Amino acid sequence: CGIVGYVGSSTACGKPLEVCLQGLRRLEYRGYDSAGVALAAPGMDHVAVRKKAGRLANLEDDLARRPLPDATVGIGHTRWATNGAPSDANAHPHLSGDGNVALIHNGIIENAAALKSGLRAEGYSFSSGTDTEVAAKLLGKIANQVIEEQGAPDLFEALRRTARMLTGAFTLLAVDCRQPDIVVGARHDSPLVVGLGEGENFLGSDVAAFVAYTKEAMELGQDEAVCIGADSVTVTDFDGVVVEEPNRFTVDWD
Ligand code: GLU
Repeated sequence: CGIVGYVGSSTACGKPLEVCLQGLRRLEYRGYDSAGVALAAPGMDHVAVRKKAGRLANLEDDLARRPLPDATVGIGHTRWATNGAPSDANAHPHLSGDGNVALIHNGIIENAAALKSGLRAEGYSFSSGTDTEVAAKLLGKIANQVIEEQGAPDLFEALRRTARMLTGAFTLLAVDCRQPDIVVGARHDSPLVVGLGEGENFLGSDVAAFVAYTKEAMELGQDEAVCIGADSVTVTDFDGVVVEEPNRFTVDWD
């Protein structure tokens, strides 16, 4: 229901988590039943995830008791349950089968049941009742296929391929511990906005997610995907064709 993503240039620090929690606080007005974050940094052998049903304070208490490691990229989510009851297991982020990739999602994936039975037949198991976990397992599988094809990870390409296979409404953000310098996103019938910083960039389901840090923004069009690095923003369609002039604007409130 609320989405935030962050990448910065300082190698390993607390800012990704700070930005995610601050963004989720700002997005609270949308209403939610669970909250979670995923972080990645160079050297991690899986993404670090923490998620809790209930108020954001539940997540923050848990993070205070069991801190997550410093990171270079982060994504955060507040959930409004549509597929599966509010619970810790159903909270986002959801993980790929190998734990390398974490995904958050706003919306409803309508062909999740069909995709899930296909993945089950291939040996994938699921730890939640959500449509989102199906997309996470699919993205993880495709990310590994891309590595096999290209010899290097390319989460942006993997997310575009995944988005082409999904029906329904979605804003998706993902991170991969093998590429801890980017956050990727995609949208169909659900909003996604980029916040443009200096040596850092942001993603949000609306500008409230990052307006505390930057007022320079860019709106993604229908069926577009984005890859943010600390010093780069690339927008493409789901086939990988670069969008040359994305819609930029300045937020005029704080
Ligand atoms: N359909 C997803 C779920 O139930 C996402 C809900 C949302 O937009 O928060 O987990």
